[in-house]
Amino acid sequence: MNKKYIMSLDQGTTSSRAIIFDRSGSIVALSQKEFRQIFPAPGLVEQDANEIWNTQITVAKEALEKTGLSFDDIDSIGITNQRETVVVWDKNTGIPIYNAIVWQCRRSAEYCDTLKSQGYTDMIKAKTGLVIDAYFSATKLKWILDNVEGAREKANKGELICGTIDTWLLWKLTDGQVHATDYSNASRTMLYNIRELCWDKELLELFDIPKSMLPSVLPSSGLFGNTSPLVTGSTVPISGIAGDQQAALFGQTCFNEGEAKNTYGTGCFLLLNTGNTPHINNDGLISTIAWGIDGSITYALEGSVFVGGAVIQWLRDQLGFITSAADSELAASKVEDTGGVYLVPAFTGLGAPYWDQYATGTMVGITRGTNKYHIIRAALEAIAYQSYDVIKAMEKSANIKLIELNVDGGACANSLLMQFQSDILASSINRPACIESTALGAAYLAGLATGFFESTESIKQNKVISKRFRPNMSAEIAEAKLSGWHKAVKRTLTDEN
Ligand code: ADP
Repeated sequence: MNKKYIMSLDQGTTSSRAIIFDRSGSIVALSQKEFRQIFPAPGLVEQDANEIWNTQITVAKEALEKTGLSFDDIDSIGITNQRETVVVWDKNTGIPIYNAIVWQCRRSAEYCDTLKSQGYTDMIKAKTGLVIDAYFSATKLKWILDNVEGAREKANKGELICGTIDTWLLWKLTDGQVHATDYSNASRTMLYNIRELCWDKELLELFDIPKSMLPSVLPSSGLFGNTSPLVTGSTVPISGIAGDQQAALFGQTCFNEGEAKNTYGTGCFLLLNTGNTPHINNDGLISTIAWGIDGSITYALEGSVFVGGAVIQWLRDQLGFITSAADSELAASKVEDTGGVYLVPAFTGLGAPYWDQYATGTMVGITRGTNKYHIIRAALEAIAYQSYDVIKAMEKSANIKLIELNVDGGACANSLLMQFQSDILASSINRPACIESTALGAAYLAGLATGFFESTESIKQNKVISKRFRPNMSAEIAEAKLSGWHKAVKRTLTDEN
């Protein structure tokens, strides 16, 4: 006992990663492997579940090899995963009957439109906290049962089981001994009742999914099972699981109601801890389970910005204004402000809180004096404005005021962006030294269950803030800028044109 290391398996959309942490939450080793994305037709996205597993176990072994460690040195394993992606496999052979259908896949979009027109929106929102969308697992699962030959008969005979990626990895790691998931992943399926904490009978009937296919739902921090010696050479407890965004919230140590994180990646993912209450309102936000620990459920509000760091990629790849994403900071600092330019990067419509899927990008306020630096600055500010809008919607929904925001993701390295975010929010921004919040969250969940980490309090001590940004803009200026932004958004929305 008293092992020194803990391992996180971070199974993402494009790559599988394994990270070994020590007790201080510092990274000891990291290994990463990409895998194939399968695009059978426009809008359809699949992955090979066996390839996901093979890359995941390979990186776990590689990370150990890099440091001369073995599974014997690992206290426990935490899993965090791309959410909603679903796999169906034969219980007896362990062979998937179809590729994993990925969260991005739109194959069930039309069926979702039908559900909406049949009036299921309110019922589904009330039970699951979700908006009806092809994004979530339920309609993907139904598609597999309806379209793979013989699937429904086998499912009805109890021969098939299914799960999100955490469940698939857990089943493989335990050599088929454990079929389970955690509360956070269950809450993304659109089949789980987040108030009553059960697979919802009415929803299972609606989607025609036999309950026997579904995994047991267990606390996010607690023993799920032990790895099989056939797989890892020795036995290691798997004692933490959470979906990637919830794991990041945990890794950012947002344990209390009113604490929030924003991940600035390709898009931005905002999660606000709302304590033991699911705030289910008609506000375009999602209510989800953040985690369940020790018999207590913590809920979160979730909102996303479709185009976050992607607007910087657009400046680089489409406009050629910069040569690397990091250059955007220096370029934007060459001008004092945007000179009245606002860029609304509604490249794929606008998400929360506007929800206009037909909106397209707009730039306003251009004059003879506008140069590329103004536009670069406007693009960075747009990331902050969009995040601001989601945060305001969350504050309203949960009736709280955010004091500080914890940040991670690639674009949080941009200090100009972070300072501007702090200025318009009038809140502090905490940028941690370790921005691997997702993997860290899974490690914390696993280690709390085994005693590797003593308590959430001791975990908080681990957190090192590398930089704190404090608001430094007058309320009048911030308001004027926000007003300009909201006018630009109005001109972007399709009903307003
Ligand atoms: P993902 O996990 O979605 O792939 P990452 O967290 O790796 O995203 O972040 C990459 C995104 O962040 C890219 O869209 C990139 O344009 C943006 N980005 C990275 N560094 C910077 C920077 N210094 N300033 C602004 N944007 C950045």
